[in-house]
Amino acid sequence: MFPTDFSRRFSTGVTLFLSLWIGSASGLFAQVNEATAEDNEPLFHDSHFHLSNYVHEGISTRRMLEVMGDKVGRVALFGIPLTQKWDYFLNGKRRPGYYLESTSEMYYYSFIDAIIANQYLRLNEADRERFDPFIVGFNPTDMNGKDHVRQVLLTFPGVFVGIGEFSIHKELVTSKIAGHAASVRNPAVNELLSFAGEVGLLVILHCDINEMRGVGDHPAHIDDLRDLFSRHPDVNIIYAHTGLGRFVGPTRTHVELLDDICSDHSLDHVYFDISWDEVAKWIVKDEETVKAWSRLINRYPTRFLFGTDSVAPKSQEAYLKTFEDYQPLWKQLTPSASRAVRLANYERLVNAARKRVRAWEARNLEEEEVDGPIVIPFPEKVPARQAAQLEAR
Ligand SMILES: [Zn+2]
Repeated sequence: MFPTDFSRRFSTGVTLFLSLWIGSASGLFAQVNEATAEDNEPLFHDSHFHLSNYVHEGISTRRMLEVMGDKVGRVALFGIPLTQKWDYFLNGKRRPGYYLESTSEMYYYSFIDAIIANQYLRLNEADRERFDPFIVGFNPTDMNGKDHVRQVLLTFPGVFVGIGEFSIHKELVTSKIAGHAASVRNPAVNELLSFAGEVGLLVILHCDINEMRGVGDHPAHIDDLRDLFSRHPDVNIIYAHTGLGRFVGPTRTHVELLDDICSDHSLDHVYFDISWDEVAKWIVKDEETVKAWSRLINRYPTRFLFGTDSVAPKSQEAYLKTFEDYQPLWKQLTPSASRAVRLANYERLVNAARKRVRAWEARNLEEEEVDGPIVIPFPEKVPARQAAQLEAR
């Protein structure tokens, strides 16, 4: 998938420089490095990355290429669906840039998808191969949410491969969002996933598995999530962070619950990312947790993906932090399981989505007999085909 000059582009001098300043991080880093150096493979593909923050400031894709260097191969590229409002009456002259910096509300910011598409399209073809953009700017409580996704696909054909990371339950965030709170039970989420299935979009879904203070050992949202997942067997869903968060920790049976999903063949389309340093802190908490998680991942290596969940990183060192945090885990995985989590699963899932989404775009642009952005016609002009589809649901 790499441009042929990928390894050549990084001279020995650059590599030496990088290894000198990263060198102190750990010997294990070097171990993974050596294991993959033969094939000129990067350390990982990043299945979970935000180019911009909660007020849509960040770095360009060109700058991101420098941050990735030869350490990271491909990146699942998205912004953040929500914007943190600067409410003068609450914040005065202090502009909040993160959701924890203010009690003022958040709202869905659809323009982020155009920003991401623009950042992708500014790159030359070889560099585009290293990014896989996702659509995030829809409201998952709105039955029209899927229509936003359709609009984005047809306005920027050849760009997007999936939807997400979008959030349903998210600690400290859900309650700040203007309007109706998102829920796994909301039929609007069902509609989104049905549409993802129709198009072949890969889905990255964030939904805390539990409330910040759960009751008992059975996480609050797991049953609803399993119901949702089983209703969409034709959609590849990456369940972000395996449902964990900064405050939503694993219950005693968390690893068993994941094992149960992995062994249930009706849920073969459900995958997990272990992105976010806040999630790493649970997984590599101590020897026992590392043992339990490595046993799980070694048993189901095709079901887990590594991602950074980094937001507009300022340096390569900052960008690689989550990868470094996971060194105790990498050490316990078999070489093939490690490679699957770091590289192979990303390639398999994203490449399949790329192919299907491009085919859907080609079919739909052809049907609409346009070669540019689509303006949805007024209801009286909606083709009978579309009206019939709506009625059939
Ligand atoms: Zn994220």
